[in-house]
Amino acid sequence: MIPYGKHTLFPDDIEAVKHVLESSFLTQGDQVPRFEQAICQYTGAEYAVACNSGTSGLHIACLAAGVSRGDTVWTVPNSFAASANCALYCGASVDFVDIDPATRNICISALTDKLHLALAENKIPKVIIAVHFAGSSCDMAAISAIVEPYGITLIEDAAHALGGSDSDGNRVGLCKYSAMTVLSFHPVKSITSAEGGMVLTNDEETARQLRRYASHGISRDPQLIGAEHADEPWFYAQFELGFNYRLSDLHAALGLSQLKHLDDFVARRLALVREYDKELTDLPVIKPILDENSAWHLYMIELNRHDRKTVFTQLRERGIGVNVHYIPIHLHPYYQKLGFAPGQFPHAEHYYERALTLPLFPAMSADNQQEVVKQLREVLL
Ligand SMILES: *Cc1c(COP(=O)(O)O)cnc(C)c1O
Repeated sequence: MIPYGKHTLFPDDIEAVKHVLESSFLTQGDQVPRFEQAICQYTGAEYAVACNSGTSGLHIACLAAGVSRGDTVWTVPNSFAASANCALYCGASVDFVDIDPATRNICISALTDKLHLALAENKIPKVIIAVHFAGSSCDMAAISAIVEPYGITLIEDAAHALGGSDSDGNRVGLCKYSAMTVLSFHPVKSITSAEGGMVLTNDEETARQLRRYASHGISRDPQLIGAEHADEPWFYAQFELGFNYRLSDLHAALGLSQLKHLDDFVARRLALVREYDKELTDLPVIKPILDENSAWHLYMIELNRHDRKTVFTQLRERGIGVNVHYIPIHLHPYYQKLGFAPGQFPHAEHYYERALTLPLFPAMSADNQQEVVKQLREVLL
């Protein structure tokens, strides 16, 4: 089976992890700060706080944005559930903005309309989480211009998008238009630390808060704990109810080593995407917009003449590990119990009904890709 996504490890990645195993620190050594600094250097963000998953990153980002009971957070339905769950972890409620069928990212006009309604009802969200779907950046400049007058905090869910940039060439993670950007290092993402995540920000106080939330709410910062403890070298203090969301040095070493390969991975993904774009031209499918700045986490087509279940099943039988991203969040049983229902976000639902993810990963060979194209042609034509 040719998988839809797969990590690529090199001998130097394995050496990096081995090196930590043979050192004095498995966690809280120097690998985490080094990984954080390297990600800052790569993205241009001022501060980075590592955590043990993209999901925990989204949680502490919401906490640092002050999300709590009584607040509302908006995101899009066509994402992984973690993009919305983070708000519920904070006791807030969630609502969704439908997608633009062309970009598959948050729809700018739907956002504008929903904000006007929310203003009339005095229900302006505290935070909006913009998801860079499949690695293609949302139009953050437009989104921030729309939400700015309302004082809404913007968080970028860039779990798909490390290595990509926006249409003006700003690296994803720079936080030019947002308060925070969240990354994931799960094995199917741009680079991996096995499990892992990071929150990026340009605000020093936000970075301090993020760091506390990721480590029990505890700090040793002399400014926080006060001069009266200056002669107590053992002293630390808990200021918030935080979590143990820390990344270990083993994971950080893997992530740091993988970062060296990121640009090659993204270039390889783009080359494969260009090939798909060419090869699928005469097929009855809708191809994604060929965004040259995308990190190309995933390659999804939409079937416009065929039944998705049939095509999916036949391709799987032929050894092509196709997948579907994503079941709209509001349609999960948990969210329907909260009151969401089919029909509420028609563009996301319509997209989901017809979406099919084709295999795409850096180590995918030209032969692999030709096999995917050949089998898809046979099934569709
Ligand atoms: C993978 C993913 C996450 C969660 O990241 P983990 O590291 O798996 O916790 C969040 N949002 C999106 C869009 C993702 O794809």
